[in-house]
This record gives sequence, structure tokens and C-alpha cells, in this order.
Amino acid sequence: MTDNIKVGWNLENTYTSLPDIMFTAINVNPVSNPKLVILNEELATSLGLDSNALKSRQSVEKLAGNRALEGGIPLAQAYAGHQFGHFTMLGDGRALLLGEQITPSGELFDIQLKGSGRTPYSRGGDGRAGLGPMLREYIISESMHALGIPTTRSLAVVTTGEDIMRETVGPGAVMTRIAASHLRVGTFQFAAKWGTIEDLKALADYAIERHYPILMDNENRYLLLLQEVIEHQAVLIAKWQLVGFIHGVMNTDNMTISGETIDYGPCAFMDIYNPKTVFSSIDSHGRYAYENQPNIAAWNLARLAESLLPLIHEDQEEAVKQAQEAMATYPEKYETYWLTGMGNKLGIFNIEKADISLIENLLQLMDKYEADYTNTFRALTLSKLEETALYGKEDFNQWHEKWQARLEKQDVSKDFIQRLMQKSNPVVIPRNHRVEEALEAAVVKEDYSVLENFLKVISRPYDYNSDYMEYTSLPPDTLGEYKTFCGT
Ligand code: AMP
Ligand code: MG
Repeated sequence: MTDNIKVGWNLENTYTSLPDIMFTAINVNPVSNPKLVILNEELATSLGLDSNALKSRQSVEKLAGNRALEGGIPLAQAYAGHQFGHFTMLGDGRALLLGEQITPSGELFDIQLKGSGRTPYSRGGDGRAGLGPMLREYIISESMHALGIPTTRSLAVVTTGEDIMRETVGPGAVMTRIAASHLRVGTFQFAAKWGTIEDLKALADYAIERHYPILMDNENRYLLLLQEVIEHQAVLIAKWQLVGFIHGVMNTDNMTISGETIDYGPCAFMDIYNPKTVFSSIDSHGRYAYENQPNIAAWNLARLAESLLPLIHEDQEEAVKQAQEAMATYPEKYETYWLTGMGNKLGIFNIEKADISLIENLLQLMDKYEADYTNTFRALTLSKLEETALYGKEDFNQWHEKWQARLEKQDVSKDFIQRLMQKSNPVVIPRNHRVEEALEAAVVKEDYSVLENFLKVISRPYDYNSDYMEYTSLPPDTLGEYKTFCGT
């Protein structure tokens, strides 16, 4: 950071340039006794903020939504969404965009509060959030960031001093979320359904300027915008699949235009490999199960494509044709990213389509022998086969021979292969029982040491030299099937 860059809030309010129907300016909703319980100092620095200043009484009041940030215009964004397939009008029902911070490197990030009180989009909800779910989002989003997966991030969590009613009564909290933007597929669905064509155009131009500015002068920019979102989502979903991340609520309002993961509700990482794994307690049909995520992303992108049709071409048939051609590129893009990533996980840097069976056979074996997904790849990386549930199985031995033969076809050293595998296979992921342990200590005992320790561990997921082995073990069986809840 150079001396002439101001440290502190340095806000823009570009969202207010959008048509009025896209947002509602909001007065803040004060809470009684805000207390900072966790602050992301590294993220604060990268945003051009001073961590010590953020801990002051005045700053904590701002992070609780008791007063606006200097230079910021608080607003709630309007959006719609397909929730489990059903189209609904939504919007920020418990979130406030405080402004957009210009970072020392010249980037623009949304500063948003979650759990900050009611808005015109609250639909009967209380606008509040529980401490457990906000800390959970903090843990998982920071872990995703450390894993190298595009994501919104968490700057701080503040308790409100007020209890909220959910299944039980518990402490309320406000989280500060940092995002490249909060533009969602659902934002476009909202504009397409309830706005004029000019509104839709203003939104699309805004999204392009913010995320894909290189397209701005192109006369086909709306089709190119669609192509960019398809590209970024293909990258993102492949990364999720590769680490075994299950989002849980892939509604169109929870899918960004930037390609960042957003809205950590009932999400979790898979332990034992099972493509049908689903975590959300409300997803009884398994719509958002692990194996369905790539297809659901395509379904959501098709909703974006539909919303953009009037901008893509004035002739509807031509617009549909162009949008369909763009959509048709998604499966191939996704598969290429997934295949390349899976190749890297197995130490193969020049993967080919012919290698698919090698990958699929391994996944089938994991499924058959109930092997832990993350630990199996870690054991392969370390050549500690005895640590996997596959050890000693005849069909695994055969697979292993084929794999070794495939590796030998590459003209690279063993060392190179091992480094590639270490970079591609995390040692630690935020396992559910560890997340719960950290949350329980924080929420019930107000002991944040378990959480702080855990955050340190998951901030270095690819560190094979660490002594984090205790964090690699599976949950004790007594925990039973893990279910997570959203909207809490
Ligand atoms: P989510 O499941 O978190 O993606 O939220 C879906 C929609 O419900 C969004 O429009 C949220 O703003 C809204 N929502 C969730 N929880 C609440 C709440 N406690 N009060 C008001 N709105 C909420
Ligand atoms: Mg949401």
C-alpha cells in the first residue's frame, strides 16, 4: 500500500445509478448492544481498512447496522428467483448494501450486512439472523477462499445483544459480507419480469461494466455477457465438484453473475463419497444433491439466458437461437474444467477424454467401499494407500496399476507429479463435526478459541507439512446423518 492511498472507508454507491425499481434506500435498523465477535484482519487490510479502527465502538455500531458508513447510501436490492423450481419475487429481506469499497488496488467490492433488519422485501420475516448461521457462513466462505474457489467473503460478525426466535431462542448477529457484487441470476429475472426493456438494459450494462468491462463497447455485449457468466459458472461448479462442496440451495437468486459462490445456508462438504449426498433439510427430493449441481447450474443459466433474450436480438427467434448456442457450450466447458481438475488430483497434467474411465472407476470404488472423498485423494497423494477404505481390495489394486501405468506415460518426474497432486488435493476441509464443534463453543459458551483455531487450520488447506492431522478424521458415527438448515 502506498502512502497516498487513504486507509478507511472509501465508498462508491454505483448501485443507486440503476433504475428505481431495482432497489430501495433504507434507514438503518439499530440493535441494542452490538459486540464484535470476529474480524477478518487480513481481508480488512486488503480492502484498505484499518483493523484497529474497525474494532472501535463507532465502527462496531456501523458493522451492526446502527448507523451508515461515511459516504455510503444503505439500500436493499430487489431480485426474484426460482426457489426449488418455483418463481418468486424476493429481494434483500434481511440484508443491506452499505456501499461499494474502492480497494487500494482499485477494485470495487460490495460491503453488505446480513441480518440487519427488515426491509420492504422481508415478506413477513424478521430481517434478522442467528449467530450460529452467520459464523457458519464466515467459516465456510473463508475456507472456500483458502481452497482457491471464487466466493464472497466475510469481514466481521457482530452480535446484536438481542435474541431471535428460530427453532429455539438464540443470540442474533449481523455479518458483513464482501462480494465482487451481489448481482444474481435472479436480479435479471426481476428486471425481465417487472422492469421495462430500458431497465433490463441498464442492469445488463451495469453488470458488464462491473464484471466484464472489456465487453462494454461491443455491439453483441449482451450475448457476450451470457457467455462470460456461463464460462465463470462452469469454472466455479467444476471447482465445487472437485473438492466435494455441496451448496444446498442452488436457487437462481443464489447464483451470481460474477461467478462467486454466494449464500452459505445449508451447504457442507461431502465426507464419504456418495454422488447422491444432499445436506439441506428442506431438499427432500434431492434436487440440489452433489451429482445434480452441474445440471442445476445449466438450468439456472438458462433462466439468465431467457431474461436476456430481448437484449440479445430484436428478432426473438434469432435471440433464442443465439442464446441456445451459448447455452450449448456449457456442458463441454464444465466437463473440460472438471476433467482437467480431476486429472490434476491424480497427478495427470495432460488429461484426455480417454482418461475418463480411470477417474470414474476410482469414484465408483469410493462409492462401493464408502471411502472418504478428501482423504482418499490425500492418501493417493502421499502414497499411503493403507489409510484408505480401498486398501487391499482386488478391484482397487487393479485400478492402482492402471493409474500408475498412466502416470508413467507422462514425461515428468515423480516429484512433479506429487507437487501437482498436493496443489490439487486439500488436506483439510471444514468437516461438519468440526464446524459444529466450533459453533457450539462460540454460541453456547462464548468461547471463540475453538473457532479461531479452526480458522487457522482451514486457511492452509493444501499445507502437507502441517500437523493438522486431527482435523482430517471423519465424524464419529454417533453424530448420525448431518442436516443443515437455511434461512435462519
Ligand atoms: P436465502 O434462503 O438466505 O437465500 O433467502 C431467500 C430469501 O428469503 C431472500 O430474499 C432473503 O432475503 C429472505 N430471507 C431469509 N431469511 C429472512 C429473514 N429472517 N427475514 C426476512 N427475509 C429473509
Ligand atoms: Mg439467497
